[in-house]
Amino acid sequence: MIQPDIDPEAVARFRRMLLAWYDSHQRNLPWRQTKDPYAIWVSEIMLQQTRVAVVIDRYHAFLQRFPSLPALALAPEQDVLAVWSGLGYYRRARMLHKAAQFVIEHHNGVLPSTVEQLRLLPGIGAYTAAALASIAFNRPVGLVDGNVERVLCRLQDWPGTGRVSGPTLRRKVEILANQLVHPTRPGDFNQALMELGATLCTPRRPQCLSCPVAVDCSTRGEHKTTPRPPMLSTQVACALAVRSAAQPCPSHLEVLLEQRSTDESVMPGMWQLPVLHDPQVPSAQLRMTVRHAIMQVNYYVRVRTVLEDDVDALTLLQGNRRWVPLAEAGSVALTGLARKILTRAHLVQPSVRKPAAAAQRSHEP
Ligand code: SF4
Repeated sequence: MIQPDIDPEAVARFRRMLLAWYDSHQRNLPWRQTKDPYAIWVSEIMLQQTRVAVVIDRYHAFLQRFPSLPALALAPEQDVLAVWSGLGYYRRARMLHKAAQFVIEHHNGVLPSTVEQLRLLPGIGAYTAAALASIAFNRPVGLVDGNVERVLCRLQDWPGTGRVSGPTLRRKVEILANQLVHPTRPGDFNQALMELGATLCTPRRPQCLSCPVAVDCSTRGEHKTTPRPPMLSTQVACALAVRSAAQPCPSHLEVLLEQRSTDESVMPGMWQLPVLHDPQVPSAQLRMTVRHAIMQVNYYVRVRTVLEDDVDALTLLQGNRRWVPLAEAGSVALTGLARKILTRAHLVQPSVRKPAAAAQRSHEP
């Protein structure tokens, strides 16, 4: 256990050991090779609730399409959502876009550097503000995401899980993070703590024998872990309808897409395959079955092939429907499920590598 108030030497030792380990063991990630605050910001937003392996591909694609904050601010929202497609949690993309416009309007296009100013931007909470202030601007502020909370709770033998903790414990962890943060290498220190939680001090089976700060840890693998909440499952069916285009050439194919209402709480305005009321699909019409996880729910999706003549007979959910040329479908703001199905049906090109086991930032509400 570290007691910063009475043992500054332990704090200095902790910082030294953690940073020495980070300097020699950190993963080579693209956002660690840049000092551009905008690029770091994009990576931090993408990493919330999304695995590192997935983010790497999308990070490059996003910066290629929107290489600067003004380029992002000036883009139509549908373009931003289309490039974000496959990452999920689309509210992040909308907020990033709005925040870029806010920075153009209120900060002359320059991202502010303090936690207080950053928190005034749309979609930026305590974690992202501290991450940007420390990593992009070298401000000595600690941060707490799920990984950091788990590591610090294990170090101190506090009852946190790294997932959900009460406000009192959260506050204790935040205070400790701010006491421990390195005064001159705050960005590296914060990333080192997150890296430790992502690679060694993992939720299950922490690798304490390899841990650089084991000497200061009160639990060393004996900390109680809470069982993972059970996944729910539900059955859904959707229609895969493809037709030959009348123009410009009948050999060109179009796929039927349906736009989710802008009032939806999840993925508003995104394009999906039409959803059917009846999840049962006759086997003769079954094209494929796909499992798709969103939050704590596994969706088992039966995909039904639909002939063009039958489309109007389907009972579809309310929504704006349109036939989209397959050549353009990949650049539409598709839901992750629609992109997955169209990719498996070899109708659009895959755009995201399979996720590998790697950690992610915790999600901000
Ligand atoms: S010793 Fe084990 S439990 Fe403690 S911080 Fe290191 S990896 Fe985590």
